This record gives sequence, structure tokens and C-alpha cells, in this order.
Amino acid sequence: MTNIRSPICTVIGHVDHGKTAILDNIRHTSIVAVEAGKITQAIGASIIPLETVKKISGKLLEKLKLKFTIPGLLFIDTPGHAAFTNLRKRGGNLADIAILVIDVNEGFKEQSMECIEILKTYKTPFIIAANKIDLIQGWQNKDKLLLETIKEQGQKIQEILDRKLYEIVGKLSELGFNSERFDRVEDYTKQIAIVPTSAKTGDGIPELLMVITGLAQKYLEKGLKYNVKGEAKGTILEVKEQKGIGKIIDVIIYDGNLKVDDTIVVGTLDEPITTKVRALFEPLALAEMRDKRSKFKSVKAVYAATGVRISAPDLDKAVAGMPVLVTKEVEKTKKEIKKTIQEVLIETDKTGIIVKADSLGSLEAVVNLLKEKKIPIRKASIGDIQKKDLGEALTIYEEDPTKAVVLGFNVKDISGICYDNVKLIIHDVIYKLIEDLEKWQIELKKQMEAKALEALVMPAKIQIMKGYVFRQNNPAVVGVDVLEGVIKPGIPLMKADGKVLTEIKSIQSEQESISKAEKGKQVAISLPKVTVGRQIIEGDTLYSAISEKDFRKLKDLKRNLKKEDIALLKEIAEIKRKEEPMWGV
Ligand code: GDP
Repeated sequence: MTNIRSPICTVIGHVDHGKTAILDNIRHTSIVAVEAGKITQAIGASIIPLETVKKISGKLLEKLKLKFTIPGLLFIDTPGHAAFTNLRKRGGNLADIAILVIDVNEGFKEQSMECIEILKTYKTPFIIAANKIDLIQGWQNKDKLLLETIKEQGQKIQEILDRKLYEIVGKLSELGFNSERFDRVEDYTKQIAIVPTSAKTGDGIPELLMVITGLAQKYLEKGLKYNVKGEAKGTILEVKEQKGIGKIIDVIIYDGNLKVDDTIVVGTLDEPITTKVRALFEPLALAEMRDKRSKFKSVKAVYAATGVRISAPDLDKAVAGMPVLVTKEVEKTKKEIKKTIQEVLIETDKTGIIVKADSLGSLEAVVNLLKEKKIPIRKASIGDIQKKDLGEALTIYEEDPTKAVVLGFNVKDISGICYDNVKLIIHDVIYKLIEDLEKWQIELKKQMEAKALEALVMPAKIQIMKGYVFRQNNPAVVGVDVLEGVIKPGIPLMKADGKVLTEIKSIQSEQESISKAEKGKQVAISLPKVTVGRQIIEGDTLYSAISEKDFRKLKDLKRNLKKEDIALLKEIAEIKRKEEPMWGV
């Protein structure tokens, strides 16, 4: 028998933008709306029944002219992106829909960008709560519906609000999303709805609930169908230690049903655990909590979508973010679970970077972003950074120094060592982590290329100055004008017809030996094995005699060369090609 479950909603956004306040307000508004306080508290989540949403957003919902089949909304109570990234299921995020909270007065911040990146990778539909509108100077709460309240504000306040909203629209457009204020949205599948809100005054909260309920009903219904009698599928939200019982797990169930005595398979970092549900717990309703020592009641069965606490033997190795599946075919399910985990936990011998993160979900988000950027990964695993991670990165250095990196998301470095040749980047914002990595790689590449250039014969063009022959031969010493490029002791010279002459033995300027001379300089150079008047004469133009091998390397490093150097390189190649048409091709 199929049914429609509540969509799983999560509230995300930058710290202090008001995620907790919005969740609190939704809960509070719900409690007020249904006098008896009939808001259902699940483990780690609040369930707002459709009836309650109807009471809060009544008129607004009616206008949508939708036939509602979803039983309500399930809000994950832990706001923030840590919980969001943790909440994964195979191939996507556990959340069906997200509310991205942006403080209208601050606009997009680091973690807002992070959220967008993650929403994008998981293709999670979302709306924006443009929060803290009450802080716009002069804003007055009118206890009316939002659009009426806005109309009743002064002209200037309306303009400020519009401007702030359009800043958000502009930023979203840069990030590849079309968006509009919710009442101006024409097509919810193409535009992100922005709802102005105040978690303080409650302005916009009914509208927020209306938009999210409408969206879920209209566009997500198919994905919310589930089999009431089916085997439960869930994700671990949190692992806790309970006195006298041992490890227990708080799980969000997104499909099927879970009963006491069911056999479950739980993902771990190694072999999945197979165990039997001993007991299931739900929070007591608010009214029942008085005088009770425990805040929980035991239940026999639960149905998706909900949050439940599971007590079962052998849960020691359970980790947040891991799947929990009810099954009758234990071996098959174990294999399935291992396969999904291995898609995230990477273990190869490839030349690539090492990635560590605090949970399977966050690791998956980092790995996905790295894959999108085509940055190869050698290993990806969960936990703090240890000696062996750095050691592994060090072995990569020889093959490719730009990959000798350990990337850590939300983890600590507990290795106690530091290698000069291993770069350690730790951050608690994923996109920053990747940005830092890319910046460092570009910088290192530049340095490496500069070093590689040092070892090559660079293009140079010089002219022997008239009247500056200091010595005829053994070695010949002549004054030269550096017309283009740079000369150094040791570089070979050739004549304008391509004939290689000799190497520069030393360079002098004002009686001092110098290590190089650039374009515009006039210096004296000593040339062994040539005689002025025989192989060279005053006024001769000479070029650095670049070998074909160096020429090819220079071509590869072209982006590090100046325009004039590239032009000179061409000139030299043309001279060489008169004798050897395929030289350097
Ligand atoms: P979170 O870190 O995103 O969960 O942010 P909080 O919900 O903890 O809010 C951070 C601060 O902003 C708290 O002091 C809240 O009281 C305040 N706050 C949140 N929403 C609003 C709002 O709409 N208006 C005003 N004036 N303050 C708000």
C-alpha cells in the first residue's frame, strides 16, 4: 500500500542569520495555531501536520488550489550545514527541500555560498528566507499577511526591502539561479522563491510554510510516495551513549516502517553491523512531560517520515550519516550498503590528494565537489588527520608536488608532525577548502615553472658594439648591447645564420662579474674559442643558441614568458628552420 510521506525539510544558512530562530518560530507558531499543542515532536525533528499548516497559512494555501495529499512537513531540528551534509542517502541528500536563510541586512556570506554549492551538487530544491526584515529601520509588524504588511510600510521602507531582495536576486543570478520574491514567481520549477521573513515578529512565517508546502505538494509528490508496509530505510542523525544501555542511534526514517524485533543492517567504516531492534523511542508530547523522569516513551513501530531513537545490541561502530536498512536478506543488504559507502570512502594508488572529513555526509560533499573540479583523489576517509595521512601525501610529492596535499574538513590535525613537502589545508567551509587548494596549486605551479625556466637557455638577442673590442681572442672580450631577452654565463650563442659559435664564459659590468644581463643593458662578455675579425666582427647580431629540447620546454611554459620573449623565440626558430624545416615542431 503506497502512501505519501511528509517531505523532509531542513533549514540551512550562514551562522547567526536566524536558522534556529526560524525553526523556533515555526514550532511556536504551530503550537499557538493548534491550541492543544499538538505539534508532534520526533527524535531530531518536528512534524508539523498539514492541518496545522492550513491553520497558519489557511487563506494562502487555498489560493494555490492544490489537492493536498502530504500529511505535513518534517523539519530537521538541527539547523546548519553540518547536519545538512550529514543527512545523506544514496545518491543524494536526505532533505527533500531546504530553506536557505539569508540575513537581508548582511546578504550572502561564506556559509551561504557553501550551502548553495551543496544544494547544487545534490540538486535539492530550495527556497530563500530573507530574514530579519524587522531590522530595516522603521519596519512595523502589523499582524497581517506579509504582502499587506509590506504595503502598509512607508514608501522608503518598501524601497529598501526591494533593494535588499534584489541584491539577493543578483547574487543568485551570479550563481546560476533565477529567483524572485515568492508572490512574483511565475514558475517554481525555474525560479527560486524568496520569502521575506522575521523570526522575531513572525512576519512571513505563514508565507514560508505556504510556499514550502505548495512546492512539496506540487513538485515533490512523486518522490514522497512510500510503501507503508515496506522495510524501513533511514539515515543516522546522531550516535549517543546511554548509561547502562550502550550506544544508541537517532535515525531519520525516510521510507517504510520500522518495528521492534526487526533485523537492521547499519553502515560503519568497515563491515556493516547486523542487529535486531530491541526498543524504539519517541519524545513524549509536551503535555506528557511533566512529572516524568524520562522525556521519552517506547513505541512498537514507526512510519516514514519520522525521527526515532533505536536501541539495539552491537551499535558501537555506528557513525553519523550512515544508512540503516531493515532487511530479510542480510547479505544482499550488507553488500548494497558497502557499495554505497565505498563510493564515498576512496582508497586507491592513484596520484591524487588525501581527503579527511568528520562524517560520511560531509566527506561525500567534499568528494563530489573535488570530482566536479576534476581534482584527483588518492584517498578519502573519515576522522582526524594522522601521521599516516601525511606520510601517504609525502609519497606523492615525487610524482607531483601539487598533489602532495591533505585536505581536512571539520577535522583536527593530530599527527604531531609537519613535512616541508606536504601541504595541509583545514577548513570548516567546504568551498573555502577547495578555493584554498586551487589557489595553492596555482601558486606552486608558478613557482615550479619559474624554477624550470631557470634551468633552460632563454631567448636572447645581442649586438656586438662598434669600438668595444677589449680583447681579440683567448678569450675574446667584447662590449654588447642586449637587444632582447636575457643572457647568462654559460649560454651558447649563434650567429644570425644559425651557426653555433661558442658559450658566454662570463659577463662583466663596470669591472664586476654579473650573473645575468637583461634587455637594455650594455655589458662586456668573454667568448672562448673565437677570434674577433674571424668568426665575429663588430656590429654582428648574435642569438642564444637554444637547443631543440629547451625550445620545446619553453613552448610548454609559454604562459610564463613575456610577449617579446615569445616573439624572439619565433625569430630564433625561423633561423633554425632555414636549415632544418622541422626544427622544434
Ligand atoms: P543561527 O546561527 O542561524 O541559528 O541564528 P540564530 O537563530 O541563533 O539567530 C542569531 C541571532 O539573530 C539571535 O540573537 C536571534 O535572536 C537573532 N535573530 C534571528 N532572526 C531574527 C529576526 O528575524 N529579527 C531579529 N531582529 N533578530 C533575529
